[in-house]
Amino acid sequence: MTTVETMSTNGQLLGTVLAVQANFYRVQLDVGVGEIGELDYPHFSHPLMLLCTRRTRLKKIGQQVMVGDRVVVDEPDWAGGRGAISNVLPRESLLDRPAIANVDQILLAFAVTDPPLEPYQLSRFLVKAESTDVDVLLCLNKSDLVSPEEQQKISDRLLGWGYKPLFMSVQNGINIDELLNHLNNKITVIAGPSGVGKSSLINVLIPTLNLRVGEVSGKLARGRHTTRHTELFELPGGGLLADTPGFNQPDLDCSPEELIYYFPEARQRLAVASCRFSDCLHRDEPDCVVQGDWERYEHYLEFLDQAIAHQTQMHEQADPESTMKIKSKGKGKQQYEPKLESKKYRRVSRKTQVQELEQLYREPED
Ligand code: GDP
Ligand code: ZN
Repeated sequence: MTTVETMSTNGQLLGTVLAVQANFYRVQLDVGVGEIGELDYPHFSHPLMLLCTRRTRLKKIGQQVMVGDRVVVDEPDWAGGRGAISNVLPRESLLDRPAIANVDQILLAFAVTDPPLEPYQLSRFLVKAESTDVDVLLCLNKSDLVSPEEQQKISDRLLGWGYKPLFMSVQNGINIDELLNHLNNKITVIAGPSGVGKSSLINVLIPTLNLRVGEVSGKLARGRHTTRHTELFELPGGGLLADTPGFNQPDLDCSPEELIYYFPEARQRLAVASCRFSDCLHRDEPDCVVQGDWERYEHYLEFLDQAIAHQTQMHEQADPESTMKIKSKGKGKQQYEPKLESKKYRRVSRKTQVQELEQLYREPED
């Protein structure tokens, strides 16, 4: 998303939802206090913020309003700081966990060391980030802890993966301005394992945040964990930033067929050549253009197994037939019986339940 509609032609008020609390939406308007002509409310901050409800019409048509949404605000009550959301503009992107609309990029934060840079873990985060279809910006913090030669080695290696990381140090203030340039006027979600310096970074990027969340927990990350709601924070330069709760092993829930496209170095090969089979999973199929000599190929194979396992599990949940397993019953006779070991909670229709029960009771007589 490069161009954001700022104000629609018929003079409607447009804004961005920064937080959702119960049935209220905190909306940051595109217009500043000086732009509301005849009004003079010096106590308003710039940019203008209104606490909004959602119009009944939107509820009726099932239109959700989520953090990051671009919305039209009606009937602003400037004195009370209230308004009503009457429309939601089409979303450019949609992230789940955290659920945020219109995210431009994921800032993936890792440390060059302390905790050590684990290739497998980094790869996993990168693939997860790539699977969201929004841009990925890789930052390697704590560059103060390694030599320039060491940095070069890491840089060369990651270039082979198709990434050009930004080395930075929150502690020594290295490349913070460079990072801010990437964040200006964009919605960015920060992700990465714990201990790499995300909270330190956020506090440097948004110095006022300490004051705002300090009362609750002293730290954005912990505040988020306890309240469990997503919030976009304003960057002084004009962008918005959201934190994600620290998690060390993101789920890989993409389809096996898509997985290869989340590796830029393999994507490059597929852009100029094709495998013999259109449904090639790039394992041991003949005439595959992806197999072989790249560093992360073994990561690919491992993630592929996980993606296949995930898909199988999804199919089992969706398709009641596959929850019955074939059991041999002497004389080559086969019959289905319920898979009893399944721990997954499944919502089964009453009719299906009855049919299953009937089948169970009939079986001994067969
Ligand atoms: P988070 O878990 O990702 O939020 O990481 P924190 O912000 O809590 O930082 C973890 C530790 O790394 C803290 O002790 C920080 O002081 C330290 N740290 C953060 N940034 C840097 C840095 O640039 N260099 C060094 N040497 N330490 C850092
Ligand atoms: Zn292939």
